Amino acid sequence: MVVLDPGHNGGNAAHPEEINRQVDVITGRKPCNTTGTRTPAGYPEHAFTWDVARRMRPLLRQAGATVVLTRPDDTGVGPCITERAAIGNRARADAVLSIHADGATPGGHGFHVILPGPIPGHNEAITTPSRRLGLAIRAAYRHGTGMPYATYTGHNGLNTRTDLGGLNLSTRPAVFIECGNMNNPGDARKLSDPAFRQRIATSLTAGLTTYLTGG
Ligand SMILES: [Zn+2]
Repeated sequence: MVVLDPGHNGGNAAHPEEINRQVDVITGRKPCNTTGTRTPAGYPEHAFTWDVARRMRPLLRQAGATVVLTRPDDTGVGPCITERAAIGNRARADAVLSIHADGATPGGHGFHVILPGPIPGHNEAITTPSRRLGLAIRAAYRHGTGMPYATYTGHNGLNTRTDLGGLNLSTRPAVFIECGNMNNPGDARKLSDPAFRQRIATSLTAGLTTYLTGG
């Protein structure tokens, strides 16, 4: 059982009152959801994350996994990060992958995986399996896409954070991937290319499969 969480949503920008509502993420308060970033040419992150998740679903099913998505399309609003986490928890997901692309300084490029940092009394049960999940995703993504580790954040393609609701509120093994930097011209070209997105989907599926089969 895999939960794919494609970041943001196509209707978010038109509904600021709904997505700007503050929600509790244990270590602080955050907007319910955000609009995400976009490439300089205007390809939105929400469309990218939706497309990758849509490409992954049949691949994961072929591999024998049951797949749940946190949103049904790319035209809605939200759901809130609290609800996205709850979807994985309710499904008792074996792995939760939140799919994003970054909007960082244009000179930085590459991908990184975000792991849940320790929040005493809350997530002791998931930090170790989430790290194993993250390492499997990192290896498969690098191998399958040829993308380098991010040059502008993290260390060897990994970051650990305690400010993300999707990770803080998850009771199931969970990681985020920032698939590239949409503000960087080279990364933007890749992320905007449907053939490259298929490679992304194949790579992420391989990483999840490795994790789920104990590799
Ligand atoms: Zn995002």
